[in-house]
Amino acid sequence: MSDATSQPPESSSLTDYDPATGHPRPPRREFKARGSFVTRCEGCNLPELNCLCPYQVKADSTAQVWLLTHSIEHYKPTNTGRLIGDVLTQTKVFTWYRTAPDEELAALLEDPRYAPFVIFPDDQPDYADRVVDINAVHAVKQQARIPVFVILDGTWRQARRMFRKSPYLDALPVLPLRTERETRYRLRKPASKSHLCTAEVAIELLRQSGDENAADVLDDYFDVFNDSYAESRYYRKIAQPTAAMQRLLDRKG
Ligand SMILES: [Zn+2]
Repeated sequence: MSDATSQPPESSSLTDYDPATGHPRPPRREFKARGSFVTRCEGCNLPELNCLCPYQVKADSTAQVWLLTHSIEHYKPTNTGRLIGDVLTQTKVFTWYRTAPDEELAALLEDPRYAPFVIFPDDQPDYADRVVDINAVHAVKQQARIPVFVILDGTWRQARRMFRKSPYLDALPVLPLRTERETRYRLRKPASKSHLCTAEVAIELLRQSGDENAADVLDDYFDVFNDSYAESRYYRKIAQPTAAMQRLLDRKG
C-alpha cells in the first residue's frame, strides 16, 4: 500500500514563507506531520509500535464479502475494508473507477454459484422493488448457493455515487443493514454514531446471517486495529494485551 505519510519528511532547511504576509518565517526546528516519522510494519501497514500481525486469525464463513473499493479509499491506511480480507481469505477486492467497470466483478456477478447482495440503505423509492431483508440471505443458503455481500467501500458520498454509477449492480437485490450497533471506529470522525465503517458493516452482516464465529473474530481484529492505530498516533505502546487481543491470541493457541 502506498501511504503518503510513510514518505521521508521533507527537508526543513529551506526558508519558509508565511503565506498570509509573504514574510520569511524562522526555520522550524522540526515539523512532525502526523505519522511522518513512523516506521510502518510491512505486514500490516500499521506503525511498528503497535503492530497488528500477532493478532491475525483466519476464520471460515459461509457468506463471502466482495469489496468494491473507491480508488481514493485504497490508499488510506485507516481503511477498514482490508481487515476483512485478513480474516476471511475468500474476500475479493475490486477497485471502483467511474469510467471503467471491473470486468472480473461483472463476470462473477453472473456466476450462478453466487448469490450477491449489494449492501445499501433503502432510503430512496426508485429501487424499492429490489430491497430484501436478511431472510433472503438465509434462503439462498438453503439453495446451497454462496451468499455474497457486495460492500461499497468509501465515504457515504462515494458509496452513493458507486451505487448509482455502476450498471452491473442494477440487477442485484439491495440489502440494507439493520442494526442497533453504534460505531466504535476511532480513526475518523463519523457524521453519526449509526454510520458504521466498512469492517463493522461486514461484522454485523456475518453475525445476522449465521456466521457468528467469523463475525466474532473480525470484531476482535477490528478492535485491535482500532486501538493499536489510535494509540500509535500518540506514540503510546499498548503494554498489556486488551481483551480483544487476548481472545485472538488464545484462538491462535
Ligand atoms: Zn504488522
